[in-house]
Amino acid sequence: MKGFAMLKIGEVGWVEKEVPKCGPLDAICRPIALAPCTSDIHTVYEGAVGERTDMILGHEAVGEIMEVGELVKDFKVGDKVLVPAITPDWGSLEAQRGFAQHSGGTLGGWKFSNFKDGVFAERFHVNEADANLALLPEGMDPADATMLSDMVPTGFHGCELAEVTYGEDVLVIGIGPVGLMAVAGAALRGAARILAVGTRPNCVALAKEYGATDIISYKDGPIDEQVMKLTGGKGVDKVIIAGGDNDTFAEAVKVTKPGGIIANINYLGSGDYIKIPREAWGVGMGHIRIVGGLMPAGRMRTERLANMMMNGRLDVSGMLTHKFEGLESLPEALQLMKDKPSDLIKPVITISYED
Ligand code: NAD
Ligand code: ZN
Repeated sequence: MKGFAMLKIGEVGWVEKEVPKCGPLDAICRPIALAPCTSDIHTVYEGAVGERTDMILGHEAVGEIMEVGELVKDFKVGDKVLVPAITPDWGSLEAQRGFAQHSGGTLGGWKFSNFKDGVFAERFHVNEADANLALLPEGMDPADATMLSDMVPTGFHGCELAEVTYGEDVLVIGIGPVGLMAVAGAALRGAARILAVGTRPNCVALAKEYGATDIISYKDGPIDEQVMKLTGGKGVDKVIIAGGDNDTFAEAVKVTKPGGIIANINYLGSGDYIKIPREAWGVGMGHIRIVGGLMPAGRMRTERLANMMMNGRLDVSGMLTHKFEGLESLPEALQLMKDKPSDLIKPVITISYED
């Protein structure tokens, strides 16, 4: 089979590989919709997870099942399925502790395009199909559905980590697709004021649609100064970091009220340390919690998030700014994710088959 791969750090290209084998609990799928992710860019061009040779990229997919293992109960060949980016081992101790995304060790549930070949191929392998897949709801557009692999669950997880609740003022730093879903999630969880940091015009427009009340450009000066000005020196209850760099934490700490939470869902692709400003952190005693997390996955959560879309609580279609057809458009779509032209939010590829 053909797959689009990271050949080595900084280099991508097509590879030819054997079709993966299906274990008794697993499924083999072919993609019907795919989306490249900023994480693929960190992986290839920053070498953020280390060197990988000829590893097929991609972790955002909607698939059709071509083969199922003999112990799979709830899925059959021909089913169209939502494929989460994270596919944990649900029997692991980490899963029993409530952190399935770290099954087998930190980030261990992130298998596609990290520990095994990803979804940018003619076929891909899904472990523990019953626990990890969800049916594509009848009537859901597969292109929209790719946002359930990673963007929706990650953005919403930022809100869960930040424990956003009614009436709070929330700062979302970064309004690419992940941050946009954090804005939407914060509005759904009852945030009062949502300050969003970003610059691309259609990201800004969509952030407002999803509920952002104030827009801040990090290009207009330090974020903390702008937030303090907008809030009359009070700061915010919660911060969700979905963009920026290692210095963004310092800005976040400076605007968070005592008792507040800073939730990072950004992938820190380079550098060794993040700095926490001592004084702003209440000289260590400010009760400002800093947490960071990989998206939780699993069938139940994926079904629930799909249910929100099917019931009109969430419309992701505005994020899909660049649409392609056919596996062969993967290089172009991934390149867009690297270049981030100003009109880009998220590229998506649909693939149709004659049989
Ligand atoms: P994106 O590049 O489209 O968006 C990043 C945003 O950050 C943009 O709005 C940009 O304007 C803003 N930004 C850039 N520099 C900034 C700065 N110095 N200060 C403040 N804001 C700045 O990215 P995306 O696709 O939305 O993904 C966001 C991050 O989430 C990526 O690092 C991605 O790898 C990561 N991610 C994490 C998970 C997870 O499970 N935690 C899952 C998927 C993606
Ligand atoms: Zn992703």
